[in-house]
Amino acid sequence: RLARLRARLVKSNNALGKGLLRLLSQDRIDEDVWDEIEETLLLADLGTDATMELVDNLRERVTVEGLREPEKVRAILREELIKLLAPELDRSIASDRREGRPAVVMVVGVNGVGKTTTIGKMARVLVAEDKDVLLGAADTFRAAAAEQLATWGARVGVPTVRSDVDGADPASVAFEAVKAGMEQEVDVVMVDTAGRLQNKVGLMDELGKIKRVIEKQATVDEVLLVLDATTGQNGLNQAKVFAEVVDITGIVLTKLDGTAKGGIVVAIQRQLGVPVKLVGLGEGADDLAPFEAGDFVDALLD
Ligand code: GDP
Repeated sequence: RLARLRARLVKSNNALGKGLLRLLSQDRIDEDVWDEIEETLLLADLGTDATMELVDNLRERVTVEGLREPEKVRAILREELIKLLAPELDRSIASDRREGRPAVVMVVGVNGVGKTTTIGKMARVLVAEDKDVLLGAADTFRAAAAEQLATWGARVGVPTVRSDVDGADPASVAFEAVKAGMEQEVDVVMVDTAGRLQNKVGLMDELGKIKRVIEKQATVDEVLLVLDATTGQNGLNQAKVFAEVVDITGIVLTKLDGTAKGGIVVAIQRQLGVPVKLVGLGEGADDLAPFEAGDFVDALLD
């Protein structure tokens, strides 16, 4: 399974890794080559400061260590890319009961980024780890959203708490879901939310209220922000808005299978100061992987 996921990452990011290796392996790395390296990194959505930092570090190492043998070029590039990905960050996701209460994971993000799908995939992984999971459909804005979540729930064999009425109060659905999770003594409650960016004040009120209402009876251990990797700068802007509204504990970067701009992982982590914890690599139930800096870079350079 990992091999298959890795193959997808390789496919999507090959252009970046191959391009960099080729440029750095030239006999003479002159200013034009450095410009080309910079351009390659910017095109991969790495962002300007990460690009500058990487190029500065590579330049220094080229000068000091001399880069000729392909193996050495590769090793240095690998080290420098891993450094940018902040491998020291804690990427674990709360999924254990604590003090007699389930872990509560809120999932936020703009409509269409892959929240519901991600919750379905996560639930499947947790079930495979023998955890009891319960889903809460607090995206009450779109009638189809609760239906879609419940379908995922049924597919992976976990219950979904939802409202019978359209347009119910999302916070009250979240409250009921957590309450049911406490009564049923599950390990994890995952709460899906709506993300309508058109109205920032509304979004702020809604997400803040969901969190406050859940915290009347439990603790929100994790707020995962889901971002679509194919949206580039737009994803970064979304991240900013959400980070103003609620304390994000981790990023899920979806649709990484559909873009050669894997550098967005670096840009997002830097901007938010929050780790990418999971990546989505397809629409299927198994297409979710924990983010690991070394694996990611290896896939890039394969
Ligand atoms: P939500 O509105 O944020 O809940 O988004 P959905 O979960 O409904 O997902 C929107 C679309 O993106 C669906 O067609 C999903 O199948 C698709 N999707 C979600 N994650 C991924 C992914 O990692 N890769 C690809 N290729 N598609 C994805």
